Amino acid sequence: MRVAAAAATDIGLIREGNEDSYLVVDPLFAVADGMGGHRGGEVASQLALETIEDLFRSGESDLAGQVREANRVVFERSVRDRRVAGMGTTLTAVLVEEDHVRVAHVGDSRAYLFRAGELRPLTEDHTLVHRMLMEGEITEEEAEVHPHRSVLTRALGVDASVDVDEDVIDLRAGDRLLLCTDGLTAMITPERIRELLAGARDPQDAADRLVRAANAAGGVDNTTVVVVDFAADDPSTTPDETSHADGPASPLRLPVHPQPRSAEPPALRGARGSRGSEKAWRDGLRVGPVRRRRSFLTRRGLTWVGIVATALIVGLVGLRVYVDRQWYVGVADGHVAIYRGIPAEFAGFHLHHVVVETTISAAAVQSLPLYRHLSEGITVQDQMGATALVEQIRLDVEPAQQKAAGS
Ligand code: MN
Repeated sequence: MRVAAAAATDIGLIREGNEDSYLVVDPLFAVADGMGGHRGGEVASQLALETIEDLFRSGESDLAGQVREANRVVFERSVRDRRVAGMGTTLTAVLVEEDHVRVAHVGDSRAYLFRAGELRPLTEDHTLVHRMLMEGEITEEEAEVHPHRSVLTRALGVDASVDVDEDVIDLRAGDRLLLCTDGLTAMITPERIRELLAGARDPQDAADRLVRAANAAGGVDNTTVVVVDFAADDPSTTPDETSHADGPASPLRLPVHPQPRSAEPPALRGARGSRGSEKAWRDGLRVGPVRRRRSFLTRRGLTWVGIVATALIVGLVGLRVYVDRQWYVGVADGHVAIYRGIPAEFAGFHLHHVVVETTISAAAVQSLPLYRHLSEGITVQDQMGATALVEQIRLDVEPAQQKAAGS
């Protein structure tokens, strides 16, 4: 199979930066849509794609394994570097292997196969709205315009591990593959995408048309597309130079962003954690049994105090790191709020802080049996889990409030 590929990306009309990235390194193609404040999204999408590219070049052939490794790399960077804490990315990647293509996917970017005039989705969105659609809570029409359609239930880099969707698709000559971020699919319908793919003469023409169409429809998000065409092997070429020797339509490597490798040393989480912990340790010591013994401390006693103190500090720093990775939904000032930490205190210190306070009345929510323990905190896996839960709460409480207002 002969492969020709092209990509296009655009910041759109509203956003201030482009957090999408793409990879065109025949036979590996991918798009990634980053999220996270400051430069986090850009770093996450770029880092994820760099990781799968490096692994591929080093001979690693398990695509889903590469994606899981990219998850680990992005997650570790976000834990180590405070400036990009909480970043994440979608990732939809394909690897062409002779007459089939392997797909690995996390998030709400998409892969489509355009074959014989028909457009067929190859991926499922990992979004709250898609889950609601699958559970029959909303219709497809409602899903398309749902205000929270971009709330992800799964993304790369936000947790130590991630589930990766995998698929293998047989290829036929004439197939055209599309990878795109949600900036495209939020703006134009699958039917419009199908028309544009049908009317484009080559991958670059298709990619450019799609991005232009997204911007013409409002361009509210970054839009990134990769288009890959598959043709029958040209009988005039020798077999060994067919699949990877492409015409000028297939650029070898098209990095979207300059390399984001940071020159500054990473800001270590422990730096602040240990100071607060030291104070906790001193406070703990004042009431602890160690102090009563102070009058007859020997040299050996002092050594033991040092060991115990070190153990306490290590324990407290560990606790702090652990606590920083926990999330729950609870109540703040009478409203539903997202907390980082755990709903508890230790030695007089709160082990949590409010990250987002919503406008949803906690009293209204707690009147629903499902959420009556909200004030004790409902723990979730991560920040996205918290956001998803808040959206679910919002949806659950609205009809109840309308009913109350109507009666
Ligand atoms: Mn996007």
